[in-house]
Amino acid sequence: MINLAVAEDKSLCRYLAEELTSRRDQFSLCKCLAEILQKLFSPESYVLYELKGEDGGYPRLEQAPSTIKLINLLDPEAPTQTLDSLEGGGQAVKLGLAVERALPNDKKRLIQPVKGLLGVHVLIVLEGYSYREDARNLIGNLATIFGNLNLLLMQSERDALTGLLNRQAFDRTMAQVHLDLANIYRRQQDHDQCSFFAMLDIDHFKKVNDTYGHLHGDEVLLSFARLMEATFRHSDYLFRYGGEEFAVILVNVLPKHANAVLERFRERVQANLFPQVGEVTVSLGVTEVDASLPISSIIEQADRALYYAKNHGRNSVAYYEQLVEKGELKPMELPESNVDIF
Ligand code: GH3
Ligand code: MG
Ligand code: MG
Repeated sequence: MINLAVAEDKSLCRYLAEELTSRRDQFSLCKCLAEILQKLFSPESYVLYELKGEDGGYPRLEQAPSTIKLINLLDPEAPTQTLDSLEGGGQAVKLGLAVERALPNDKKRLIQPVKGLLGVHVLIVLEGYSYREDARNLIGNLATIFGNLNLLLMQSERDALTGLLNRQAFDRTMAQVHLDLANIYRRQQDHDQCSFFAMLDIDHFKKVNDTYGHLHGDEVLLSFARLMEATFRHSDYLFRYGGEEFAVILVNVLPKHANAVLERFRERVQANLFPQVGEVTVSLGVTEVDASLPISSIIEQADRALYYAKNHGRNSVAYYEQLVEKGELKPMELPESNVDIF
């Protein structure tokens, strides 16, 4: 329970930040923020909306408001609305700033955006009478604190050992990248840049564990992840896919640059001396992220290229499309339901 009397000898904001920080999951964090808003400002109504893009991931700025869903974080049963149904919501998302709108009977609606890693991801909506500037500043500060805590909770998307994005994040990111590409194709924009998906699998890792023990094996996984971070760009997505398998999504790159960076990574792994273990090599299977294919086929293509690399000496980068062109791999059959994706 929020007890504002306790806040007397501390700054109000600090007290509220401590209250928020003590919450351990997103729902109770939202409940706590709602309680604070209720106690401080007594609005006639308040809602916290999470914004979701078409695939359930983060919305993108260029996405039409009618395609951005508003999920009521305080009432999971409430029907889902879209951003265009909230007057002023689109503007608050675009500007990243609070927006006030007049309602009938002299009432006002205040929409306070909450920023996450990839832009605004939550809207705090208060309806009642106009809020003074100091109240609006406090709401803005609360939004920042809430946003940071929410982000931490969302970091459950990170793998505990390596700190890379985990499998759950992979599913969400791949869906988002795939969707963005489909939109680009749909708008028929020129694009000489592509996105690539690479599966990375450490060679003979079982032998590393068997020879040096599981702990040193873990150490190799950690160093391997650091090498990934040092080699790829910030805008690339790096994942621990599972066990000793990793994945990279390279977004908007020229094919020759993708080739170069993947080859450079393979070389860096080979050249790296892993503590105790020494030399370790990696095999990579790569394919283009083709928006006309279902995600499962894209993953399977990379997997088949990886399998090829494993069966042809390991420590190499194998490209699905090149192998198909050379007749080394048979092209995958497209599932019927996907032929008319556009
Ligand atoms: P290949 O070159 O064909 O990929 O051979 P491999 O030995 O790397 O592949 P295999 O799939 O036979 O073995 C993978 C090993 O990875 C077995 C498993 O014990 C180990 N492993 C999976 N997850 C972890 C982990 O988190 N830590 C450690 N130390 N080992 C792990
Ligand atoms: Mg493996
Ligand atoms: Mg392996």
